[in-house]
Amino acid sequence: MPLEQGGKRSECSKIWSDLTDRSTGWGNSDIFQSHRRIRLFTIGLLEGRMSLKVTLLGTGVGIPQPGRSQAAILVEAEQQLLLDCGAGTLLRLDQIGASIEAIDTVLLSHLHLDHVSDLLALANGRYLADMPGLEVFGPEGTEDYIRSARRLYPNLSEMDVAVQELHPMDSLSLKDFDLFAEEATHSLPSLAFRLEAEDLVVVYSGDTEPSPRVAALAKDADLLVHECSFPEPFDVTNHSTPKKLGSMIRDCGIKRVALTHLYPQAAGCEDQMAEQVIELSGVPTIVGWDMMTLSL
Ligand SMILES: [Zn+2]
Ligand SMILES: [Zn+2]
Repeated sequence: MPLEQGGKRSECSKIWSDLTDRSTGWGNSDIFQSHRRIRLFTIGLLEGRMSLKVTLLGTGVGIPQPGRSQAAILVEAEQQLLLDCGAGTLLRLDQIGASIEAIDTVLLSHLHLDHVSDLLALANGRYLADMPGLEVFGPEGTEDYIRSARRLYPNLSEMDVAVQELHPMDSLSLKDFDLFAEEATHSLPSLAFRLEAEDLVVVYSGDTEPSPRVAALAKDADLLVHECSFPEPFDVTNHSTPKKLGSMIRDCGIKRVALTHLYPQAAGCEDQMAEQVIELSGVPTIVGWDMMTLSL
């Protein structure tokens, strides 16, 4: 798995270069069964193999820190999805050479500011540039959030922003992907997402404590991008630390893990955090950095 753009290379990333095995497995959970049948049919119709690029645009949190802007991930197949849109996302998109024209669909894990701060800026930017509207998927409360924003900024009423709220266990087809949502364990309604494109699976945890639901969602994933907010020995709720996370995702068949959403307290502990996850999960793990691209 090459690191194609930017980002500091963790020592632990060496482990990834040894990996050549791609997931061909499917989750065993019942919620995946119907999609499996549909997909097996679909794959037979497709020519060539799809590839996925996952770019960690922002790997930080609400507290400013050098080198880490707020939460955002760009997932690219033939089309693009933006997962979360924290402060700094528009700048990071520009820095990797991505146009906001292609970013017309955003999935929000939850509504904390470090995950949504650039959403209105993205909608406004597309509007000012005469681009088509924005489609936003998010947890319970997303419709209220956009409605409140429209009250604060009357010009938003002229923008075409379509909102669809998602709930745990929801699934739908979205662009090149089959999307599954699951409940995360956080301080307000929060979702984790599983994206499947052909036989490739990417899972994003959003903000969460290590959760059996998220671990099940990530079963057999090629890549799990999971938050790991604090190093050991922090004892926190609503967020993850390396040892609890490593124990939770053991035996899930996950191929690779990238840690994101790091608080400033994690600075200097990055390699140790990845090693602790590896030790307890047995899964190759790296700590993500802004603009690191992972190719599947
Ligand atoms: Zn957050
Ligand atoms: Zn949060």
